[in-house]
Formats: sequence, C-alpha cells, structure tokens
Amino acid sequence: MPLRKLKRNTIDSSMAGKHNELVIAIDGPAGSGKSTVSKLVAKALDVVYIDTGAMYRALTLKAMRNKIDLKDEGALTGLARSTEIDLKDGPGSLKVYLDGEDVAGLIRTPELTNNVKYIARVPGVREEMVRLQRSIGQRRGAALEGRDIGTVVFPDADYKFYLDADPAERARRRHKELVEAGQAVDLADIKKDVISRDESDMTRSVGALKKADDAILIDTTKLSIDEVVKKILSYIK
Ligand code: C5P
Repeated sequence: MPLRKLKRNTIDSSMAGKHNELVIAIDGPAGSGKSTVSKLVAKALDVVYIDTGAMYRALTLKAMRNKIDLKDEGALTGLARSTEIDLKDGPGSLKVYLDGEDVAGLIRTPELTNNVKYIARVPGVREEMVRLQRSIGQRRGAALEGRDIGTVVFPDADYKFYLDADPAERARRRHKELVEAGQAVDLADIKKDVISRDESDMTRSVGALKKADDAILIDTTKLSIDEVVKKILSYIK
C-alpha cells in the first residue's frame, strides 16, 4: 500500500483536520544545520518534529549499557526488536524515551556519538527504526530529519530537502554546540569526527546518506538558520 495512503488511513480520527498532514523530509550530514532548522520548520507548519538520529542514539545507549558486542549484528537486531523507543516534542525540547525512560540528556556524549555507526549500519536495526519512524510520522504531519528520510523512510514525502555545508563549517558548528553544552572538546578532533562520520554514513550498505533525486539541495555554509528556514518555507507555502 502506498505510504501516503497508509498515513491517511491510520491517522487518529480525532486529529483529522485538526493538524497538518504534511510529511517533510530533511536529510544531510552532521552539522549541516538539520536539527535547528527542522525544529523551526515543524513549528512554523504545526507538524511534529522527529529527530531520527536520536532514535539511533537511544538504541546505542542501550547497547552500551547492556555491554553488547557492537560488532554482533544478530544481537543488535534482537536488541532493536525488543526495545521501545518513542519521541515526544514538547515546547522547546524533544523528549526521547528508551523503554519509557527519558534519555535525551544522555545520548550526545562523544563516546556514544562514535559508537552510533556500529548500530546504524545493521540492516535489521534499520528495518526496525524505519518501521518506528513511519509509525510516529503517520500519527500526524511531521518534519523528519535524518540521513535516509527522503530515500527510504518516506520516499513519497510531500517535500524533501537535503542540507549540506563545507566540512570546516560543519565542524565549527558542532564544536560550538558541544562547548555550549559544557563539553571540553577540541575543534581539530571534532573535524576529524565529522569527516569520519560522513564516511561511514555515506558508505554503509543500507540507508546510506544520499540526496534523494527529487530533494531540493540547500548549501547552508553561508546562510543563517533563519535564511535556511525561510528558504524551506518558501517552497512549501
Ligand atoms: O543526526 P545525528 O547526528 O544525531 O545522528 C547520529 C547518527 O545516527 C548518524 O551519524 C548516523 O550514523 C545515524 N543516523 C542514521 N540514520 C538516520 C539518522 C541518524 O543512520 N536517519
């Protein structure tokens, strides 16, 4: 069944007509501005904001806590199938629930960020995450940010955007974010991390980071957040 059809059929009838049913896919590499921009776009359009990276991060946290061998794809797939992950966007913040526990404050450490790639490359894990993302996105309209939203999760999204920026600028943004969050990090290390994350995100065999053919490319290197949001909204409104 086509996704859009499924979406309209499964939407909670009490919400029908109340909320926008738009599905907006926003993909791109780390530091391209996706998170801030997606939140603002979702707010402007009154749709749910879905941070799919947070879901891979939450599962990574559980794998680390349970000391699962990160190279054991069977164990990671089993973990994904037996884990409940949910997202709820509240005013100003996104809550990420891992088996009912809000873990939003625990999933952005450098160690965990480096480990996400082991989880994100496992086909069985991605299958489970995509299923979850579709079901959350189908509750009502949504702006989803990630790596494979326009290509795999919602290939028939109403609008697709691919944000990109120079690696040096993306590293600078990540560095600023982490410093503001109180983490002592070195810019050169962050640049190395960003480049190595691009490499593993773009080369994995499933759900690789890739611009969908019909996505609108926005180079955010020299644009402010506001300018990117306005650009996106100009295509939608
Ligand atoms: O977006 P964020 O940087 O939080 O994502 C963390 C990691 O999760 C990415 O580097 C990527 O490996 C993985 N991810 C993914 N597919 C998505 C979103 C994130 O593989 N849709």
